[in-house]
Amino acid sequence: MDTVRRVVHDVAIVGAGFGGLGMAIRLKQQGTDFVLIERGEDVGGTWWANSYPGCQCDIPSNLYSFSFARNPDWDRAYPMRDQILEYLRDCAVRFGVLPHTRLSCELLGARWVADEQRWELETSTGPLAARVLVAAPGLLSEPSTPSLPGLERFQGRAFHTAEWDHSDDLSGKRVALLGAGATAVQVVPEIQPRLRKLHLFQRTPPWVIPHMDHPVHHEMRDLYRRIPLLQRLSRGLIYALRESQAVGITRDRRWLKGQELNARLHLRRQVPDPELRRRLTPDYEIFCKRIVLSNGWYPAIQAPNVDIVSSGVSEVREHSVVDGDGVEREIDTLIFATGFKPAELPIAERIRGRDGRSLAEVWEGSPQAYLGTTVTGYPNLLFFYGPNLNLGHSSIVYMLESQIAYALDALHTMRLRGAAEFDVRPEVQAAYNEEVQERLATSVWNTGGCGSWYFDRNGKNSIQWPGFTFEYRRRTRRFDAESYRLAPAA
Ligand code: NAP
Repeated sequence: MDTVRRVVHDVAIVGAGFGGLGMAIRLKQQGTDFVLIERGEDVGGTWWANSYPGCQCDIPSNLYSFSFARNPDWDRAYPMRDQILEYLRDCAVRFGVLPHTRLSCELLGARWVADEQRWELETSTGPLAARVLVAAPGLLSEPSTPSLPGLERFQGRAFHTAEWDHSDDLSGKRVALLGAGATAVQVVPEIQPRLRKLHLFQRTPPWVIPHMDHPVHHEMRDLYRRIPLLQRLSRGLIYALRESQAVGITRDRRWLKGQELNARLHLRRQVPDPELRRRLTPDYEIFCKRIVLSNGWYPAIQAPNVDIVSSGVSEVREHSVVDGDGVEREIDTLIFATGFKPAELPIAERIRGRDGRSLAEVWEGSPQAYLGTTVTGYPNLLFFYGPNLNLGHSSIVYMLESQIAYALDALHTMRLRGAAEFDVRPEVQAAYNEEVQERLATSVWNTGGCGSWYFDRNGKNSIQWPGFTFEYRRRTRRFDAESYRLAPAA
């Protein structure tokens, strides 16, 4: 990348999901100059990318929205993907960020230019420069597809749920679907009725609790519109109830027993066959993996056109899959509901800091940051939904808004102190991460007897936040300049 004279934006934001859009809206409101780039064809982030049948958020609608843009129009208690996308598009238009947005524009590289105290970005639509870089790539944006022996020989269609192939609705098809996580649990009840055969490759059964979703009637929506306080109260109540689950996850397991009983009763009610019940009963603690909500999963997987395979896939052939016991099954389509690689985001290979090394080179598979947001050696970089910020119990939008407030205060502090550069002190980052890992060590994620995507390739939990969300809010309320090395304009 050449260092050339060009317009230097105050802020460049990468990614137009909840985090990037939220930041853009706040900057727009403040009158700060920014550019927002998004590799997708539209705003929405994960909600744009994931269009699989049944895609729905498992956090209630009244909590899953920006605090500054509550939406009285949610028509379900838990929002469907299309409505979330509509909401985010509406926010982008309503708050005037689209004129600052470049869609179908992918970040190819970003490097810190020390002499100029700015970031230089190489994108698929040309170069950009900015004083501050906000990376908001989303945590679940890099699909994970297992490398199955023989997969390259397969003659049918094969795709990941995050890249759903809508060219065929699968009617009358024989499908093998790998996975039994949050995504599979939503997809399977939607597609099973129209398939000729579904071979469900379930490696580990999930804990499933009844789904409390229901339509929000227009009388209620009218009420929310006329009396916004009502929706705020509902949001507050949902928030408080969910927050109480953090006690069980990170402090006292007895708080999780109620949900385990709920899940066991759900299984007993919906699966009469004791042998099948046994195969569907998890052998790890509830909440160790993400808990899933569904009323349709157990009925769908007991349908006569479904067989559950627990022995894994040993080989893929031109028109079939062979399971771990050597049984061959003819199929037309192979679907991977196999999750994501949150600790191996491609953007980490593309962002190069003070010493020219990429985040991926520094992290070596175990992402680390201060408050999940700033990384030593990467001045003026704010990473959204970064290391150890994911939740098992509440809305990530709440965490993102905390990060946005922190980022805005960082910009404010720079202006106030005449600083052109901030860089988190290495000892601060190290102490913070030590604390996070220490607290995670006793959490249900680390000790509940399961493997999950919360663990990176080095076996470290670099994904989960070990406490209450209000603690994170408190810690990010102001930009703690003393934790940083601030430098004036060179
Ligand atoms: P996931 O929870 O990581 O589940 C992936 C599934 O694929 C697991 O059942 C895993 O089995 C299985 N798998 C992986 N490799 C396999 C292989 N080689 N053979 C057979 N099975 C294999 O992924 P996800 O379901 O896409 O969900 C990821 C996250 O996205 C969720 O935890 C949640 O945070 C988010 N999400 C949220 C919603 C929602 O809001 N409702 C919906 C979808 C996703 P093992 O368990 O044995 O590893």
